[in-house]
Amino acid sequence: MSSDHAKKSQLRAVPERNADTPALPFDRAPAPAKPEDAPPQCSRCFGTGYEVVAGKGARRCPCREQTAQSKLADSARIPRRYDACNLQSYYPAPNNGTQLKAFNYAYRLVREYPAVGRGLLFMGPCGVGKTHLAVAILRGLVEKGVGCLFYESGSLLKEIQDSYNPISKTSELGVLAPIYQAEVLVLDELGASKPTDWVRDTLAQVIGTRYNDRKLTIFTTNYLDARRQPADETLEDRIGVRLRSRLFEMCKTVTVEGDDYRRKFDATQV
Ligand code: ADP
Repeated sequence: MSSDHAKKSQLRAVPERNADTPALPFDRAPAPAKPEDAPPQCSRCFGTGYEVVAGKGARRCPCREQTAQSKLADSARIPRRYDACNLQSYYPAPNNGTQLKAFNYAYRLVREYPAVGRGLLFMGPCGVGKTHLAVAILRGLVEKGVGCLFYESGSLLKEIQDSYNPISKTSELGVLAPIYQAEVLVLDELGASKPTDWVRDTLAQVIGTRYNDRKLTIFTTNYLDARRQPADETLEDRIGVRLRSRLFEMCKTVTVEGDDYRRKFDATQV
């Protein structure tokens, strides 16, 4: 290139592919960010996403995996109350075989996923750690890169109801699609909502869709299969015979017994 030609040609900053803005000559380009404005960069890959391994080549930087994992964790929508719940923070009560068994099922599901045919249905009274274990499973699966979603069943029904369009007689797909698509779903407190026909039909549709698609679902419920007192309601009373029947096929039923763990907080907190 002659030196004259070099003087005439002007260097241009090339925009990203598909960007709307035209290329700017360097003299009109925005001033480079000051070092203190720049986002903190990974010391392994310096923001490139690939780290160089001396004498071997380049590989995907662990920082990118962390980012992908934290995105999965955010999109799982686990309530903040359960921030500390994982398998390591679950302590089966001494001499309580049901809690140890429940823990083992949770642990095995995480370890063996995706070679897992059925989900789990944790049944038992309040405060025995059913939600803790369900959340612990989600966390373990998120660490394995699995897309998960947590929903309390009453909130889900409310969202479906709020998005109902009386003209089209349908609910927003925006609410239902993530429930249908989540690779693994936790549906907490199944049967807690007053069992009207609408509640039963809606649950049957939502859970039935996942059943048909063979999607893994983990449930918790405070209702049991057998009445302990004549006035007790069973899970079948709450969700209907058809849905209870499907759950037998979709999930291994795991009954958890014990004292309400929350009572411990009462003894320790001021
Ligand atoms: P459930 O869903 O059975 O009503 P939760 O899982 O919500 O009960 O448990 C209530 C609280 O007690 C949560 O904060 C949970 O982390 C804690 N908890 C319950 N069981 C255990 C356990 N075995 N080890 C550690 N924490 C527990």
